[in-house]
Amino acid sequence: MTHLDTRTLQQLDAAHHLHPFNDNAALAKRGTRLLTRGEGCYVWDAEGNQLLDAFAGLWCVNIGYGRPELGAVAAKQMTELAYYNSFFQCTTAPTVQLAAKLAELTPYDLNHAFFSNSGSEANDTILRMVRHFWAVQDRPQKNIFIGRHNGYHGSTVAGASLGGMKGMHAQGGLPIPDIHHIDPPFWFADGGDLDPEEYGLVAARRLEQKILELGPERVAAFIGEPIMGAIGVYIPPMSYWPEIERICRQYDVLLVADEVICGFGRTGEWFGCQTFGFRPDIMTLAKGITSGYIPLGAVMFNDRVAKVLATQGGELAHGYTYSGHPVCCAVALENLRILQEEKIVDTCKADTAGYLRQRWLELGAHPLVGEARITGMVGALELVPDKSERKFFTERGKVGVRCRDLALKNGLILRATYDSMLLSPPLVISRAQVDELVEKTWRALDETAGEL
Ligand SMILES: *Cc1c(COP(=O)(O)O)cnc(C)c1O
Repeated sequence: MTHLDTRTLQQLDAAHHLHPFNDNAALAKRGTRLLTRGEGCYVWDAEGNQLLDAFAGLWCVNIGYGRPELGAVAAKQMTELAYYNSFFQCTTAPTVQLAAKLAELTPYDLNHAFFSNSGSEANDTILRMVRHFWAVQDRPQKNIFIGRHNGYHGSTVAGASLGGMKGMHAQGGLPIPDIHHIDPPFWFADGGDLDPEEYGLVAARRLEQKILELGPERVAAFIGEPIMGAIGVYIPPMSYWPEIERICRQYDVLLVADEVICGFGRTGEWFGCQTFGFRPDIMTLAKGITSGYIPLGAVMFNDRVAKVLATQGGELAHGYTYSGHPVCCAVALENLRILQEEKIVDTCKADTAGYLRQRWLELGAHPLVGEARITGMVGALELVPDKSERKFFTERGKVGVRCRDLALKNGLILRATYDSMLLSPPLVISRAQVDELVEKTWRALDETAGEL
């Protein structure tokens, strides 16, 4: 690769590269920030700025940047066998080993893996497989999925339809038919006078109302993120998920946990369903599965679903060229080895997550912060005009973006959704780095408040 200077790269970027989730006209004017290097919890940009990445890339770099072991494993696998597919009664060793490893790591009887290249594709897979699951049992009319408004399940046609982002539905004529949404559990804005645990039950029972409205014989599955990430880290009350599970069991509706963010240690346990005490039939995985070092997604199915697909399903008319790609699976195995052997998830649970929680909650005292929330290694600060009320700014998102930009100027990457400042650092963050993170966040809040 020839070396190009930053300015040239920015010009080429503006001329030739359409960015995802960006106002591309505004971006071209401003010039892209180029990232050049990563190490642990830090990344460096082309101007030489060192940035503490409190967002782990996009919720994914769980083991931190710059681990040479993953590159070494990829190089070895590429040299030995760069590619072979799992169609036509074939497969490769890393593919099989990863399926077995995921069966071991995931809880309950989630023992069967199907591989994709991303979380979105994994959710597309789930939509087709679940409808197929009911159809082959002579219940083709049981095909409706229920998701949640403002949920995020990816950007493909099925993923964006299952998700409940209005702005996404508006582009491309979504959602596709037979997908419905209920309101999410967000006590801060929606809880009224109820205490959070009471409210959790009220929010969960929206699913029961929706199932009864549609008819249980029509409803195939409910899909949800254990913690809703993209919309602003909505952490449900502990009462929510067990009640969702009760409802799903009562009406024989499959329960799908989209663990793309929550999986692999993010919430303090290995998986979000363990943190929140429920038992999914199907699980979506991506992001932390490779710590973002290489693209990979997976669907885990429980024994019940796998058995129907295996014995009554006939030939599975679904798959990706790169399903179970050997290089991606080898890298995932190495990532999981590091997470396990270096006790990264255990260390968060026993030490750093508790410390991060204590320090993050201190930020709740800032005059601009209406709520500081956190579970494990994922959290948010809700910026508000008046601390004494659970109300948003009238023009939503302006203050959040300003705070994000000021944090960046101070060498800290935080993400903003509306006026929620989102936190999701690499799981390897140290106590000293937590201190740095909290100090820089406090400064960004002060500077933002100073401008209001
Ligand atoms: C990121 C994300 C997805 C989509 O994954 P991609 O790899 O971007 O396709 C799906 N679900 C959740 C909860 C996510 O956060």
